[in-house]
Amino acid sequence: MKIAVVGIGKIAVDQQIPAITNSPDWELAATVSRQGQVAGVPAFTDMAEMLRACPDVPVVSLCLPPVPRFAYAMQAIKAGRHVMLEKPPGATLAECHALEQAARSAGVSIYATWHSRHADMVAAAKAWLADKRLKRLQVTWKEDVRRWHPGQAWIWQPGGMGVFDPGINALSIVTEILPQDIHVQAARLEVPCNVQTPIAAQIQFAHPDGAEVQADFDWRQEGEQIWQIEADTDGGVLRLFDGGARMEIDGQAAGVASSLAGEYPRLYDRMARLVETCGVDMDLRPMTLVADAFTLGERSATDDFHD
Ligand code: NAP
Repeated sequence: MKIAVVGIGKIAVDQQIPAITNSPDWELAATVSRQGQVAGVPAFTDMAEMLRACPDVPVVSLCLPPVPRFAYAMQAIKAGRHVMLEKPPGATLAECHALEQAARSAGVSIYATWHSRHADMVAAAKAWLADKRLKRLQVTWKEDVRRWHPGQAWIWQPGGMGVFDPGINALSIVTEILPQDIHVQAARLEVPCNVQTPIAAQIQFAHPDGAEVQADFDWRQEGEQIWQIEADTDGGVLRLFDGGARMEIDGQAAGVASSLAGEYPRLYDRMARLVETCGVDMDLRPMTLVADAFTLGERSATDDFHD
């Protein structure tokens, strides 16, 4: 199936394009980007022009930052194309609802991708937790923003989400593996004085059985980078490391990954299956938790951030 990729930046180059070119399902038929291109692939700088010139490309994958994404997604849906959205699926929940409604009316697929849910051990963690009673869950997501987001001004601007840009990945895993939904009870957001989005956040969640659930996100981590989820249950302690790539139960390595390797190859496999049935997959729970943390969060000002 032919696909166009829009927004040839870091994630498109690092993950999306390799996943497409190595997949038996997809052919990269066009790109839309003001500056980026992929060698040998027809390149457009304007979305409307690509949609007009490529009526035989039924699927568009949007790899832009969240704020500009809505207008591009709506244009693609109105042109009758199936749409795949990088995470987070929009800048606001209302945008996401509008996109889903438009896709359903147009009879095309829309897929809010959460790449971290496809990390090797997430499915195994979900299966293990399914019959356990949760007592405590701690998310620790601490990374160095200068290393992972160099020069990305948009993450510090309204809608850029700041530390929730990686933090939402953790929440996409938590909402996938827990059998019951949680919601935000309280949050603290640390915002550098010279930007608009938080550099660190701590969130407390309410759990239906009263389990203690917390998340600690920090972008000022130097040295060891930590992307970890620890769940203490009546049947033992589960730990996910490296963003869901490794799992331990009571200190012993556990879990077997699915045969298709890699988060992005799994996303594109899922999209290929969705398009077959014009299916819709718009799970907005991770986004709801982030939106609620912004709504309830107590702000404190912290040191200026300079890239
Ligand atoms: P990026 O490199 O800063 O941006 C991607 C591309 O989008 C840019 O190269 C730019 O291409 C285009 N773009 C930027 N601002 C735009 C605007 N206002 N209007 C139109 N096009 C614009 O960002 P990224 O790191 O790839 O992230 C993109 C999305 O992927 C984000 O939602 C992020 O959360 C997600 N993601 C990123 C990573 C990662 O490791 N970086 C991992 C997973 C998911 P042109 O200038 O050529 O138009």
